[in-house]
Parts: sequence; C-alpha cells; structure tokens
Amino acid sequence: MEYRKLGRIGLDVSVVGLGTEYLNKKPRKTVVSVVREAIEQGVNYFDVVFAFPDYRDNLGAAFEGYRDRVFLAGHICTGETNGHYRMTRDVAENEALFFDLLSRLHTDHVDVLFIQMVNSMEGYQEVMKPGGVMDLARRFQREGKARFIGMSGHRPPAALEAVESGQVDVWMFPINLAWDFAPGRKEVFQACAEHNVGLVAMKPFAGGKLFQQKDRGSITPVQCLHYVLSQPGVTAAVPGLKNLKQLNAALHYAEATQEEKDYLPILAAFQQDVEGNCVYCNHCLPCPVGIDVGSVIRKLDRALKASGEPSGQARASFYNPSRIRSPKEKPTERSAAASDCIECGECVERCPFDVDIISKMQLAAELLEAG
Ligand code: SF4
Ligand code: SF4
Repeated sequence: MEYRKLGRIGLDVSVVGLGTEYLNKKPRKTVVSVVREAIEQGVNYFDVVFAFPDYRDNLGAAFEGYRDRVFLAGHICTGETNGHYRMTRDVAENEALFFDLLSRLHTDHVDVLFIQMVNSMEGYQEVMKPGGVMDLARRFQREGKARFIGMSGHRPPAALEAVESGQVDVWMFPINLAWDFAPGRKEVFQACAEHNVGLVAMKPFAGGKLFQQKDRGSITPVQCLHYVLSQPGVTAAVPGLKNLKQLNAALHYAEATQEEKDYLPILAAFQQDVEGNCVYCNHCLPCPVGIDVGSVIRKLDRALKASGEPSGQARASFYNPSRIRSPKEKPTERSAAASDCIECGECVERCPFDVDIISKMQLAAELLEAG
C-alpha cells in the first residue's frame, strides 16, 4: 500500500481508503470482515458517513481493538429519519449526533470531522456563521474530540471558498474520470495542492456507474483509482465497497502493474457531463411526501437500461412506454410512489448533480406504476 501525507495535517494515510456507505444495511459479519481485511491489507483511512444506528454499531464492532491503527473520518450534518438520510445544520442535533457517533464507534475522538454537503456559497456561509456548525466543530477540536476539521461538497465555487479560507484541513470532493471535465473542478484540485489542504476523493467509481456503461468499453477499479490518484492534490480515494470481492478488486491497486493502471486508452470514451445524472446518493432527501428519490430513479434507470433506452437525460416524450419493462422489485414500504410527487422542488434544490428529479418522477410514474 502506498501512503501520502494528508495536506498540512502531515499524517500518512493509505491512498486507497474505505468509504463505508455501501456497508449500510449489511450484516455485521460482512462489515467486520470487510473492515478487518482492509486493515490487514494496509488501509488506514476509513470514512464513516451515516447516522444510522445499526450502521454505526456494526462499524464500532469492526474497529474494536483496531482503533489505534486507523484514521477515522466522521461526519456531522448527516442525520436520519426512519432509516433515510437527512441533512441537518441544526447545532444541537449535530452535537447529539456526534456524541452518538463517538459512543457507537467506541472511541473518544475522530481524526477528521467533516461538515457535510457544503454545496453552495449560501451553504458555506450558513455553516460558517457565528454559532453555526463550524463553531461546534471547533469546540469539539478544542475538547480533543476531533483532531482536524474537514468539509465535503460537490461544487467548485463553495469548494474554492472553503479551501482558500484556511479554515479546513481536508476537502472531500467527488472525483472520477467521467466527471472531471465539468468546468471548475480542476481548479479545486489545484487550490488544495497550493493551500496544502488534504484532498480526499469520494465516488471514484461514480457510484458504480463506470462499470455499467459497457457501450463505452470496460474499465477496472484499478484504472479508476489510478486516474483519481494521478490528479494534482489528491491524497486518497475512498471507494464505497460492499463486500470482500469488491474490496480485493480495489486493493489490487497496491500491486497492479503500470499496464493495469493505464487509463488513457479508455479516457475519452468515459467523458460525460456530470449534470443530470443521478448517482442514487439520496442527498436530495427528505421528500415531504416520503419518496425515496434515489431508489425510484435507480429503478427507472434499470428499467430504461433493460429496454435499451438511454438512461441519462430523461424526457418523457423521448421514450416509448411499451418498450419499458418494470423491474421486479417493489417499492419499499416506507417509500411513497413517484406519482405522489407534488413537484415542490425541494429535492431539486438539494441535488448536487442538478438531476431533473421532477421529470424523472413523472417518467417513473408513467413507466413503473402502469398496470
Ligand atoms: S437526484 Fe441527485 S441527490 Fe437525489 S439521489 Fe440522484 S444524484 Fe443523489
Ligand atoms: S419535487 Fe417531488 S420528489 Fe422532490 S421533494 Fe418534492 S414531492 Fe418529493
């Protein structure tokens, strides 16, 4: 495993870390085996993003006895309601959520505390206002409960503002070879390098989408990781991995040949616009009528893919409903149907990828709920 200094923090972290979001809802046995195997193979950077109690408890069990071997990245501003992700900037709630995180992970501190989803200038100003969540994070830092402060976000203007402010030690940003051609993204990498802010790459596989686009050619986890780790300023990538097979495929990076890492032959084929493509992250929740937006769009995309239709920019008039077959899975009990959408637009405001959610709900209602 290769290790790099995490910006001005100066600590060595493994270039391949573990994003744990896909270990949510997995059995404890799976979570423990993936985390422990990662540690044995030299991974020392672990990102713990959600507030779901079972998810945190399972990770707490996995880190038991290994805390001194891992660099733990925890998040605030990530709440939950009935098993659904919910962003919160409420200071009192975040204080409670952070204490819950420490308790369930059986630790007295995290190594870096991320303020999550700072996607707009307004969002940045909100977290930085006196008495806001940055002040809370600083208090935790003074109390020794958080060694360093980070932020995560998806959009360049807020990222540049934060990185250049001198207020954050680490910036977490989605980086992969399909999205980096959008304007402003390379400037974020450069700013992190210039200001010695650690840059941690989330979504190096674009939420798994890079492996599904066979029409563009096949690509490996090693190529994806090598692209990300070749960008200026990037310290580590944290792929979301849900089992040992995926873990081993990613950790093959540590021993891969230059030939295996070479991504140039497939780079051009994977260029695409980030805008409008759902990665099923559910950062758009909560929906006031209870629609599990990411899950609905995932089902819609699967149905469109199975029918041979493109799944990118959905416009109802473009598709022929008779060619679309509904996926076998049924909506979860908690999720309202796409047709319940009241077009309030709240989710659209929150989506970092500018997905036309309302159109997708209309299309999903038309294609997945018929009959
Ligand atoms: S619509 Fe946007 S925020 Fe919601 S799941 Fe898709 S990419 Fe994520
Ligand atoms: S626009 Fe529809 S899906 Fe989005 S939050 Fe409003 S009701 Fe929910």
